[in-house]
Amino acid sequence: MKNPLVKLKTAVWIYDIDNFCISWANDKALDLWEADSLKELQTRDFKKGSSDAVRSSLLDYQQAFKKGETRGEFWTFTPKDIVKKALLIMSGYKLEDGRMAMLCEALTLDLIPDMELVGSTVMMSSYNVDGTFISGNPPFKEDIGTDDIGLDELIVLNSKLTQIYAELNSKGSFKGDVLCRRQGLEVWYHLEATLSSQDNDKKILIHQYNIHHRKLQERALEKDSHTDLLTGLLNRRGLFDRLQSYRDKKKPFVIFYLDLDGFKMINDSFGHGCGDQVLKSVSARLSATLFSKGYACRFGGDEFIWTCGLDDLPLPMDVLSEKLLNAVSHTFYGDFGVPMDVSASIGYASYPKDGTNTQEIISCADAAMYIAKRTGKRRTVYYRPGMEKENKRLGILAQNLAQAIKNRELSLHYQPIYNVETNSIDSYEALIRWQCESLGYISADETIRIAESTGLIHSIENWVIRQALQDLKEFREGADQTVRMSINISGLHLAQVDFVNSLEEKIIQAGLVPQDVILELTETTLLDGIDDEDSNLHQLHKLGVGISIDDFGTGYSSLAYLHKIPADVVKIDKSFVEQVSKDKRTIDYIHRLISSLGKKTLVEGVETQEQKEIVQSLGINLHQGYWFSRPQSLMFFKSKPIEPTVIEIR
Ligand code: C2E
Ligand code: CA
Ligand code: CA
Repeated sequence: MKNPLVKLKTAVWIYDIDNFCISWANDKALDLWEADSLKELQTRDFKKGSSDAVRSSLLDYQQAFKKGETRGEFWTFTPKDIVKKALLIMSGYKLEDGRMAMLCEALTLDLIPDMELVGSTVMMSSYNVDGTFISGNPPFKEDIGTDDIGLDELIVLNSKLTQIYAELNSKGSFKGDVLCRRQGLEVWYHLEATLSSQDNDKKILIHQYNIHHRKLQERALEKDSHTDLLTGLLNRRGLFDRLQSYRDKKKPFVIFYLDLDGFKMINDSFGHGCGDQVLKSVSARLSATLFSKGYACRFGGDEFIWTCGLDDLPLPMDVLSEKLLNAVSHTFYGDFGVPMDVSASIGYASYPKDGTNTQEIISCADAAMYIAKRTGKRRTVYYRPGMEKENKRLGILAQNLAQAIKNRELSLHYQPIYNVETNSIDSYEALIRWQCESLGYISADETIRIAESTGLIHSIENWVIRQALQDLKEFREGADQTVRMSINISGLHLAQVDFVNSLEEKIIQAGLVPQDVILELTETTLLDGIDDEDSNLHQLHKLGVGISIDDFGTGYSSLAYLHKIPADVVKIDKSFVEQVSKDKRTIDYIHRLISSLGKKTLVEGVETQEQKEIVQSLGINLHQGYWFSRPQSLMFFKSKPIEPTVIEIR
């Protein structure tokens, strides 16, 4: 098989579980495996080097992949005796001969330089049902210090061992924090045990990783009232104490105010447990990056402050602000490696330049942070006098948006999605337009941002849905009766409990059927409820509403989940088509993967005839972009049937 997956940021390969070999890999994977060429890697025999524990685990996984499950674990690889650690995301991949292989995506530590996780490589071991040892992988042997240890010796407390056996008997698995013996010491591990049977041969498989440091920290922190219990950083009281001592010594200082982007979404979509993990991970990063002279504080929910005396600053302020931003912005992996992008908006201000007391400096940094947030997020902004005013503009926008529907300031533009095979319009995408009475034209991105941050998104998008459905009927008048309407939906809105009912009601009211409507959703939104048959996403799918994955390819790890998402169409992000005249292999590969999963590919952002032709030559028939048509009003399309050529007016 050809392997055009060269451009992806992660190492990706397919492992043939039955034959102990890699059947293909992208360039990043060749680097990871220290291979000179794909050919060389394909001839490597992985049987010799792997333990029974690893082989058995993979055979178990093979069964899980057949059920559509995925796995995420930290693994240590030793190609050519070089030790490498990576988060490995594993999912099923059907080979041409029908056997189930494993699609692996490895996120190496340069992509996730999370200090806390470096030590947590998964240790695997296998045992007979009576607890006698069979084998362990190298990380197990290295950590435990022996390659023959029975379960009764490994697990410190007898009562725990009894509990593990009981759960293996009743459920077939156990999961929990367990104290284990390690080189004469008692150490905390997170441990997962499963009862596995291959060839009627029952055995116990154990995967465990070290959490000792974290456990001890949790205990020590409970006593300290200047410390935030969850993260181990200073709490507010601790911060004000330090700032007071700066002021007592008349020491100038800087405040960096960090607020996480999209944290509420993570909390709401993935649960508070996951939210807590994100906060801990961000804190670990802050403490690890930050030089000994400064202090990090958890200021509130998802707000952090880092402060330092100006004389002690290790770097110029602007460089430091970028360092902080990079330290906390990363892709975080929740249970089973579900990826979530975390980033922060940072504002900073200094004493005594920007204010005469601590509270004032914090307010200035806060105002700068708001600007960072409202001008695109994932940025740093130094406080300037007048920022409060800019915030006021954004405040006014937020207020005006509340009235915008009533004042008829909102409208919709439509951009056709073409089927180049049948030379017809497949659907129209509805895009919001806001002509604000007091502040002029506001872009769709900004409008949606404000709507999301003010909670107005539900009423605005409900308006969008009603209007778009009504307009769909106009589009159909005297024209193609099968053309459909594609509507963008924010993750916050989709998460509403009554979203599905409310949409269905609107569709019926408009005299249409669910099949007439497509919802465009972004990856992060789609991962929510991926395993939950009752999630809004699955309900919509069952109802017959089309689902389209928007901006595909912009997140870090999308491939492993694609087969799980009940989407009909995958919209490859604009950024890929920009490159297509130089590199068409990436789009080609993604398209083939999408097709093999029974989904349709759509390419958006097609701006030139050359791009259109290349994309079409790859067998991709759904196109959208300026080359066909810019977004236009309903009136425009009604008065002028369009040809697929450039339309200059916007
Ligand atoms: P999107 O869903 O990715 O929409 C495509 C954007 O790319 C649109 O920008 C469109 O005008 C622009 N575009 C289309 N063809 C081309 C092309 O050939 N080249 C280039 N460079 N750009 C092209 P627009 O209208 O400014 O919308 C921006 C974003 O705002 C949309 O991105 C969508 O995420 C969001 N949006 C718009 N309306 C809604 C809505 O009702 N709800 C939600 N949640 N989001 C919306
Ligand atoms: Ca879209
Ligand atoms: Ca898009």
